[in-house]
Amino acid sequence: MELDKMDENDWKYHGEGNKSLVVSHVQHARVLRLLKYSTEDDENSHKTTEQAFRHIQNIVDYSKNVMKPLLGEKFVHNGEAVKLPIDFVRQLSLKVQRERPESRCDKVMDTFSGCALCLPNLTQLSSCCCFGQHRPPLCIEIKPKCGFLPSSRHVTKEIKSKVCRFCMHQHFKVTSGKWKRLSRYCPLDLFSGYVTTHPFWVLITAESHFNGGLKWKGGECIYSCKDDADVLQDLDELAQHLRPYFLPSGSLINGHQASKVVLNELIQVLMSALLSSWDCPRTVEPRKTHLPEGRVTCEASILHRDLLWNGNHCLPKDCVLAKILGTQMHDNLDIEGLNPLFRRVEQHLQDFPKESRLQIDGPYDESFLEKVQNCPAEDDGSIEYAVGKVHQYRVAMTAKDCSIMIAIAPCGEDDGLDQNLEIQPAKPRFSYSVSILDLDPKPYDSIPHQSRLDAKILNYYLRSTQPNH
Ligand code: ATP
Ligand code: ZN
Ligand code: MG
Ligand code: MG
Repeated sequence: MELDKMDENDWKYHGEGNKSLVVSHVQHARVLRLLKYSTEDDENSHKTTEQAFRHIQNIVDYSKNVMKPLLGEKFVHNGEAVKLPIDFVRQLSLKVQRERPESRCDKVMDTFSGCALCLPNLTQLSSCCCFGQHRPPLCIEIKPKCGFLPSSRHVTKEIKSKVCRFCMHQHFKVTSGKWKRLSRYCPLDLFSGYVTTHPFWVLITAESHFNGGLKWKGGECIYSCKDDADVLQDLDELAQHLRPYFLPSGSLINGHQASKVVLNELIQVLMSALLSSWDCPRTVEPRKTHLPEGRVTCEASILHRDLLWNGNHCLPKDCVLAKILGTQMHDNLDIEGLNPLFRRVEQHLQDFPKESRLQIDGPYDESFLEKVQNCPAEDDGSIEYAVGKVHQYRVAMTAKDCSIMIAIAPCGEDDGLDQNLEIQPAKPRFSYSVSILDLDPKPYDSIPHQSRLDAKILNYYLRSTQPNH
């Protein structure tokens, strides 16, 4: 990419989240991730070029030096911070504006700093040598959310060890009007390691667009479920796209039945991608990661209600879900146990305002990771313990909020593929790549907000589901 010859016509709108807007290159497998601002912010609150560059460089450092070692080298692409010509950014902003969903337009793209994060386009399987010309790679993105129930002794409300945070949060979002309906997704189903297609089915059909279900073919978005869409009709449409990948061309199956077959095939590939143990692909019986002690099912989950399963399930060690869950579990005190430690750090910073060795806002380097990994196991009253726990909590928050991209490409029979990447769900063979994205550091000063939000969600859930409480 030649930064001095940027042309907005080479880029198109790709997607956006709450914090950033992403554009993709029309030819090369690259994206630019730009910052967004709230339209209510006045111009003075915009970052200068140097501040924005620093902010983006921090994201790169955090992904590279902290999240990558925790989540696994092969899943994380940290990208690089770039400075773009300001004219290019302004033109780009005008160009993408009309493609943006209305619900996201409460924020505007940053056209002041000219800074962006340049990343590989993960919807296009770059590591795979075998793009079928007529069948471009497919890609699915999911946002799994928190996969365990807190077992911390600091938790004061019993319900927290029975119903997962996501399921409680859903109630809150539906009633506050942010979401139109409850979904049947529960992260504990996905992370249980219990091999059933249910959580995948829910994710794929994306009853809740929030948790994923975004799908691309050759980098073009082909399906993103809207809140009020007709799910069944949408699914048939999606299945039409997928049919050439999963059904032989002469197949006579049609209609809803074909959709079901095709989506099931897709789910089989997804399950292999999410549950395969990347470090020991040739082991027949993969080593297992045992889930946390205690309850592993969420009472609000449909699966929990439908099946009475014993709690003894495992995820294959080193599969992407185990990596994410392991990182999320750095939050082992729960926000309730963390709060007093946050205040200890605050007090320390007041007493020693020049203190920078705690690395509250970075730098995100090896020594930050060291603080996360070597935090004392018991509270010895020290500032080191408190800051270690705060860092661990923030790392866990990032892992609770990340997305997984699974790119799938069909392979010809005789392709000499890397064996590690090869799977065989049914007849046509597929190779896939799995990546984890959206690994920004979560702000230290959002911890008090997290604490208030936690209490609000909880009280709300108790009031709406247990009126006599
Ligand atoms: P959130 O609100 O979830 O925190 P965010 O504002 O931090 O989101 P991202 O999730 O990083 O932003 O990016 C927004 C969307 O852009 C993603 O959900 C994904 O669909 C797309 N995207 C981001 N990075 C890439 C990439 N490297 N390749 C392809 N698509 C990407
Ligand atoms: Zn749940
Ligand atoms: Mg995101
Ligand atoms: Mg994000």
